Amino acid sequence: MMTHKPKIYLLDVTNRDGVQTSRICLSKLQKTMINWYLDQMGVFQSEFGFPLTRHETNYLNANLELAELGGFSRIRLSGWLRATKDDVRGALKLVPRLKYLNLSISTSDQMIVHKFKGKLDHQSIIREMQEAVSEAKKLGATGVGVNAEDASRSNLEYLIEFALKAKEAGADRIRYCDTLGTDTPFSIYERIESLAKQVQLPIEVHCHNDLGLVVANSIAGARAAADAGQDSYINTCVNGMGERAGNADLVSVILAIKYGQGMSGYQLDEKVDLKMAWKICKYASYAFGVPIPINQPGVGANAFAHESGIHADGALKDRRNYELYDFEELGRGEPEIIETGRKITAGEYSGIKGFRNVYEKLEVAFKDDAEATRILELVRYANVHNQKPLVDDELNFIAKYPDIAHKIFTMTP
Ligand SMILES: [Zn+2]
Repeated sequence: MMTHKPKIYLLDVTNRDGVQTSRICLSKLQKTMINWYLDQMGVFQSEFGFPLTRHETNYLNANLELAELGGFSRIRLSGWLRATKDDVRGALKLVPRLKYLNLSISTSDQMIVHKFKGKLDHQSIIREMQEAVSEAKKLGATGVGVNAEDASRSNLEYLIEFALKAKEAGADRIRYCDTLGTDTPFSIYERIESLAKQVQLPIEVHCHNDLGLVVANSIAGARAAADAGQDSYINTCVNGMGERAGNADLVSVILAIKYGQGMSGYQLDEKVDLKMAWKICKYASYAFGVPIPINQPGVGANAFAHESGIHADGALKDRRNYELYDFEELGRGEPEIIETGRKITAGEYSGIKGFRNVYEKLEVAFKDDAEATRILELVRYANVHNQKPLVDDELNFIAKYPDIAHKIFTMTP
């Protein structure tokens, strides 16, 4: 008898797969804001960075501290590492508060032969991974996911053996990575269904868009896990960023689960709230410096635009004639106010008068001059980091959490 109704959770990898992508960069403040918006949106977990990369250390520690201060409502912050004992040790030394890890190693013949080039074979890959998982657990990690890189091109029997060995070593989840985006909804369904059935662990579904199938594959994978009685964690990126053609777009995945035909029997984590969609997508687009395509699902300029006679007439008579979901649900519909006259901005060379004017408009008051001067200094540093005008939420964040902001801006090579 099944007592547990499997759920589909969201695990966003914008701050890991997203930022490791060619030409895509985020400052540490921008990464923090992404974590913050994801939390507001009810995303279960943010893979928020690389714990062994030195320039991430202060950012990672500051975000974990922010979580302890109650700055996030529930989001789990997890780090990505190679599955080796040394990397686990090094990471937990640099980021001791880190409780959630994903440990990655390749499982396909292609990569075992042509990437490891004899350094590791199928059995030593399992050994390395098991040692890394045990070490992480020994050092206090409470949630460890094991990533099978190139899982979609791996021999299924070997993949199942690998996952069973991961479970035996204490892993809490298996990440099925369609690293090259070669799966189709049909192939990924079959493979994840057997994997989940035989291993009996929750499955993370990590897909790429090289064939334009990323969202379809992600929900097919999640369905397969659920049909096998397991929870799943769909890996997403804001605005579909990610290596090459990208990862599964966060908003499209949510829409597909909520409104896709045949999906109503599958339970999306009830904390997920699309209301933040518009805000996070606009922010990420600004931070990446990459515009949102006009035909982007949900948040594109044309997602709710109608021009042709029959469509415009139909949409005006009843929105359900030509709209599958409501723009209000995505947090759209509020007018955006753009100052067309005088505007004082706060930047790296700002002085106290202009700075006070900016914060007065945000209705933030400082208790004395000393506090105002301190926040001004942090805002200058923030602007040095971002190299573009700060948005209101960033200014508010700095005023609310100056100590955290101070750590985020501190970097010592
Ligand atoms: Zn990836």
